[in-house]
Amino acid sequence: MSFPPSAPPLDDVTRVLGVFAHPDDADFGSGGTIAQWVASGIEVSYLIVTRGDSGGFDDTPRGQMPILREAEQRAAAAVYGVTDVEFLDGYTDGYLTPSIDLRRDIARAIRRVRPDRVLTNSPLRRWERISGPSHPDHLAVGEATTCAVYPDARNPFAFPELLEAGYEPWVVREMWFAAGPDPDHVVDVTDTFAAKIEALRCHVTQTSHMPDLEEMLRGRMELTASNAGLPAGRVAEAFTIIRTE
Ligand SMILES: [Zn+2]
Repeated sequence: MSFPPSAPPLDDVTRVLGVFAHPDDADFGSGGTIAQWVASGIEVSYLIVTRGDSGGFDDTPRGQMPILREAEQRAAAAVYGVTDVEFLDGYTDGYLTPSIDLRRDIARAIRRVRPDRVLTNSPLRRWERISGPSHPDHLAVGEATTCAVYPDARNPFAFPELLEAGYEPWVVREMWFAAGPDPDHVVDVTDTFAAKIEALRCHVTQTSHMPDLEEMLRGRMELTASNAGLPAGRVAEAFTIIRTE
């Protein structure tokens, strides 16, 4: 199972909502692209499902981790100029499923932000690389977000408590999926690569033990660029785009 070929991106987008499982997902997979969107005048909001309480690599007290990681994600978002960052409560890192509760919470965020475009994790597993992109939390958030885009956010009879609370139905027109199989929409992010690295360095609990982070990402992203026919020295991020009108 894979995605169909990407649709051409909409050219009149004013608002984007990024929905991610953990602090740092936005920055690792999509930071250069998000920075470009903000620079072009698009308003970007984040909905982060967990505070990454199972992350880290050292003896930081575990009770501190969610507090640290929320602060790290807010700082990383601010590097690009993203200031609307919502964290959901009640979800534990490593335990995510595309549950009805999660769909309702994402639908609520969609109805609040009213985005033209939603960016999220891929619900489809990449079999060639079992780690990282295919973390089960990522797959769960990708699936729950897709269900929230259709039908939950647009159907006034889905989760009637949302409408009662004043959240009007909303049709998201386009979804961008990060880190899925065979992404075919490539964004040249050479000009925002430095911002992406700066944002990733804000995630101290996740990246401070990775001195070669920039080199590693540059190598990987140069390959994405050259595979798409971009000139040598360019770096890129890749996505799948699906129309959801
Ligand atoms: Zn993650």
